[in-house]
Amino acid sequence: MEEKKPNNEIRILETGSIDEDIYDRQKRIRGWNQKRISNSKIMVIGAGATGNELVKNLVLTGVGNIILIDYDIIEKSNLNRCVLFNIEKNIENKYKADIVKKASKLLNPKVNITVLKKDINDIDVSLYKKVDVICSCVDNIEARLQANNYAYYYGIPFVDSGIDEFYGTIQAVYSEVKDSPCLQCGITGMDLDLMWKKYSCTGQEIISEEGETMGKIATLITTTAIIGGIQSHQVLKFILGLDFFKKNRKWPPYIGKPLIGKQLNYNGLNNIFQIIEKHKNDNCWVCSYKK
Ligand SMILES: [Zn+2]
Repeated sequence: MEEKKPNNEIRILETGSIDEDIYDRQKRIRGWNQKRISNSKIMVIGAGATGNELVKNLVLTGVGNIILIDYDIIEKSNLNRCVLFNIEKNIENKYKADIVKKASKLLNPKVNITVLKKDINDIDVSLYKKVDVICSCVDNIEARLQANNYAYYYGIPFVDSGIDEFYGTIQAVYSEVKDSPCLQCGITGMDLDLMWKKYSCTGQEIISEEGETMGKIATLITTTAIIGGIQSHQVLKFILGLDFFKKNRKWPPYIGKPLIGKQLNYNGLNNIFQIIEKHKNDNCWVCSYKK
C-alpha cells in the first residue's frame, strides 16, 4: 500500500517550541522568516501617534533595528493616542523619541533603537541607503517628500502614512518596480505653491468653518491604530519579500505584493477601504528619469 504523503497544507514546527518561543505563532505564517525580521533595519520618521503604533508593532514582531527620527517633545494633548508615552508619569516635556525607545525596550529588550533628535533636513543622507525600509509618520508634506526623494533615489522601499479625523491613507513607493510612481508624482503645481501653508496628515489643507486655516489636526487613536497597523504590515511584507523580489522580479506568493503604486484610503465615517491606482508622472522631477 502506498504510503500517504503528509498534507502540505499543515505546517508542523519543532515540538517544544509552541509556548517557549515568543515568535512561535507568527513563525507559523507561510513565508515567514524570523531571522530576516530580526536582522532588518527600519527608519521611522516621526515618533507621534502613528509612529507609536508603527514602532510598537515592529518591536513586538521582533524587528531588530530601528532608526527613529524626531525632535519634538511630549505635550499633554499627545497622551490620549500615543500608547508608548504612557509608560510613566510626568512624561511631559520629554523627547518623544527617547520615550518611544524606552518603552520599546520594555516590550522587547533585544531591539536596537537609534534615536536622532533632528529635523529630517539635518540628518546624514547616507543613512537612507543603510536601511531596509523607510517610513514616514509625519504631519507635513515637506518631510514626507524629502523621505520619498531619497528613498526613490537610493532604491529603498518607502511607506508613507497620513491621518485626518476618521480618514487615513497609506502609500508605498519602491523605485525597483518598473514604471512605479513616487509620492512626488501626485503633487501638483498648486500643491507646491501651498506647501508652506499648514497641511493635515492626508495632505488636505485644514480650514475652519469660517474659512480660516487652522493650526492643529483633528486625530483619533482608532484611525491611527488602523493606519499604523497597515503601515507596519507593509513594512513586514517588504522585509519578508525583498530578497525574493530581487531574485525573481515578483513577490513571494505567501507574502504578497506591498502597496506599491497604490494608495489605500480608509474612510472611517462610511466604513470604506478603497485602493486607488497611482500613475507615474512623466514630468516628475524625482522619478521621471527612471522607466
Ligand atoms: Zn515621481
